[in-house]
Amino acid sequence: MLVLLLLCTSGLLLRGDAQDRAALWRGNDRSGRCQYTFSVPSPTEASCPQTGGPEVEGLKARLSLLEVLVSRLTGGDTGGPQGATARDQTELHQSLNRVTGERNLLQGEKERLEQELEGLQRRMEEMRRETERLRNKPCPLQTPAVPPSPPLQDSGLTKPAGGSRLSHLIARPNRQGDSSSLRDSAWQIEPQGFQELKAEVTEVPAPDGSEENTGCGDVVSVGEPVTHRKADTIAGKYGVWMQDPEAVSPYGPNMIWRIDTIGSDVRQLYGYENMEQLTKGFPSKVLLLPELVESTGSTLYRGSLYYQRRRSRSLIRFDLASESIAARRELPHAGFHGQFPYSWGGYTDIDLSVDEQGLWAVYSSSKAKGAIVISQLDPNSLEVKRSWETNIRKNSVANSFIICGKLYTVASYTSPDTIINYIYDTRTSQGKSVAIPFKNKYRYNSMIDYNLAQRKLFAWDNFHMVSYDLRLGRQE
Ligand code: CA
Repeated sequence: MLVLLLLCTSGLLLRGDAQDRAALWRGNDRSGRCQYTFSVPSPTEASCPQTGGPEVEGLKARLSLLEVLVSRLTGGDTGGPQGATARDQTELHQSLNRVTGERNLLQGEKERLEQELEGLQRRMEEMRRETERLRNKPCPLQTPAVPPSPPLQDSGLTKPAGGSRLSHLIARPNRQGDSSSLRDSAWQIEPQGFQELKAEVTEVPAPDGSEENTGCGDVVSVGEPVTHRKADTIAGKYGVWMQDPEAVSPYGPNMIWRIDTIGSDVRQLYGYENMEQLTKGFPSKVLLLPELVESTGSTLYRGSLYYQRRRSRSLIRFDLASESIAARRELPHAGFHGQFPYSWGGYTDIDLSVDEQGLWAVYSSSKAKGAIVISQLDPNSLEVKRSWETNIRKNSVANSFIICGKLYTVASYTSPDTIINYIYDTRTSQGKSVAIPFKNKYRYNSMIDYNLAQRKLFAWDNFHMVSYDLRLGRQE
């Protein structure tokens, strides 16, 4: 049979017109025997193209498919589907980076809030002990000079922010441990202390019409907050914005600068040509600071940015024109990174500002036991020229600013209707309680400073950059 088949095949192959079109396949069948298959086109279909048998075509198709798959897996060239895959991967990486960055910011914020919670718990404990101490103290006989004080207690001014407004008046021993000479110890329930409480709710005197709103003077009233810009990202929940009162080339006097201060890598300083560009959100300059910034206490003066280096008591003067550090110095004994912040926390240990008399630092130290220390600094060398130790507990006030050598403290950072509750005059080394209304429109004010260039207050309230007009009266 096989011989006959071979003979037939030979005969067929010898036919001229079909010789080059006959095909032979061979392979094993299921039982393992060798199987031969002939394929010969009919004469009427000889013109049909035939480049290979159906099995070869199938193999070719499968091979092509495999090649495509291998090429995709190895990321061969960038065209076609491979290019789309590469783009997908890039977008995926970008999304991952963005999410990681936001996660880091939120972690930093969580740490800060935890620290703030600890601080509040500490303060609660201090208040509890203080209350205990007062309870155990024999009740002093009321002197005729001290009238009963229901109006004070019933007054809306004393609640609910009353605790924080009064807490700065808590008696604190001076360096020698003797608290008898302290002026603002309202909790001693003595006539002197009462006078201070009374002063706190005294009506603000009407402004003297003869005074101009230029030059030095005491703050008589603070205007409504005016919103200029809202930060776009979580990094701008807290921040600092400022203007140089004595700007230096190449930057003009209208230049506004801004730092968003949430995050562990705060070093970007944005510059805007003027207020309008800030409002539009178009910075004309972005400087990368060589050292990380701590919190919202930075300020600008004579062409330099002054700021506290992260996790240190080092002050840095960064020259804007040369974009380099011009001076660096430790602020002696200053607390940092949460030792003595303002009441809202945020590592606001060192608060720098500028007024008519130059550069100031507001901070505290272990030596001052948490009370606000004011130091005037040499703007070139950052050396302390002179210091004043006040009796105001730094963590009992929301923020502070200095105008004409006088420190003003703000009672609350969250209350929409709070007050400026204390003034300390460095000229006389005297302090007194006041009650000048102040609004926290967005209920989380993380920075308040005097802007000498515009004679306004600049503040950063819960993502919002706001300013306040000031009315200054006769200087006392
Ligand atoms: Ca401040």
